[in-house]
Amino acid sequence: MQKMCYFDNAATTLISKAALDEYNNTALSFMGNPSATHRLGRTAHARLEECRSLIADVLGIKAEQLFFTSGATESISIVLSSLLWAKQPGEVILSAIEHEAVLSWASILQEKGWTVKTIRAKGGFVSPEELEGMISEKTKLVAVQMVNNATGAIEDIDALVKTVRRKESEYRKKIFFFSDAVQALGKVPFSLTALDVDGASFSAHKISGPRGVGALYLKKGSIQSLSKGGGQEKGVRGGTENLPAIAGFAEAVKEIHSSDGNVEEINAKMRELFQNAGIKLLSPEESYSPYILSITTPIPSEVMTRMLADRGFCVSSGSACSNNARGKAENVILSMGFSSKDAGGVVRISFAHTSSIIEAEALAEEIIKIVKEFR
Ligand code: PLP
Repeated sequence: MQKMCYFDNAATTLISKAALDEYNNTALSFMGNPSATHRLGRTAHARLEECRSLIADVLGIKAEQLFFTSGATESISIVLSSLLWAKQPGEVILSAIEHEAVLSWASILQEKGWTVKTIRAKGGFVSPEELEGMISEKTKLVAVQMVNNATGAIEDIDALVKTVRRKESEYRKKIFFFSDAVQALGKVPFSLTALDVDGASFSAHKISGPRGVGALYLKKGSIQSLSKGGGQEKGVRGGTENLPAIAGFAEAVKEIHSSDGNVEEINAKMRELFQNAGIKLLSPEESYSPYILSITTPIPSEVMTRMLADRGFCVSSGSACSNNARGKAENVILSMGFSSKDAGGVVRISFAHTSSIIEAEALAEEIIKIVKEFR
């Protein structure tokens, strides 16, 4: 099989050797169900809590504020479905550039009588002033992601939360601020406590951990959840905990926070190569995650990604860990104020801490060559 140079790490990453070892060791050595009262159950439970504390320490939060789930989609669903407990439907504000895991809740909430307002993100950024004008007495939740998965734009969560808190005191009503932090974990520095968000979602497979495991941060350490089951995770997420995957997740969190990869250098080099070749960047010039670089070319995304795949490079056309929702990925780019021509030619290049600068340069040269031939 042809060797592929992988630059689609915002969609998923290769599990690291250390995370896989931790997965295997835990699967083989901790066979009890963490809820069981016998000795093997108790040791499995202790291992579960050890993993929780490790991740919580790295995030600077209390262990009791962290809940394991099957991934960010489930973490998000737990928070958004909790609104359905409310006696009266209210209003939510979702940024237009959220991942489908969030945006797909708009129609469900509307069906249940909720008003869903969408806040745009011009140039990739949600404006606190615009948010201020949209919040009303009925607003119950605001969701703005920490890092956009299409362009890598880092949202000003601090200013957005402060705006929400001001409105809270004005209306004397609680507004839940949720931030999907999937593309931020281990990639850009942040403090959940300092940012004062009420909830945040995380996923292991974006940071070289196993698939099908993630976490939910809750400032208050609880939420009215629809995911009851056997009451695991203090009733926030029922179901037997996937202990081997959680152990792999904890290892991946540890690893990415102690790694000294050269992603910044790779990103800077690629930006320089593209700009010198007259290729337009969709990723912002400032406040961006070095792990994601989006460009647009005159060649349709699908054609470009296929041509690159034939030449041994994996990239994505848009925000796609959801290629099955391509139209929606394009909408995200359009809502940032880019033209439909720009949106049609998006190439998202995304890195892992193990990415190679030599392969990245080869990719940039290949894209530049294809564009030159086309012109
Ligand atoms: N949020 C963002 C920003 C993502 O990039 C993804 C990736 O798919 C998700 C949520 C969903 O994560 P998961 O695959 O863990 O459900």
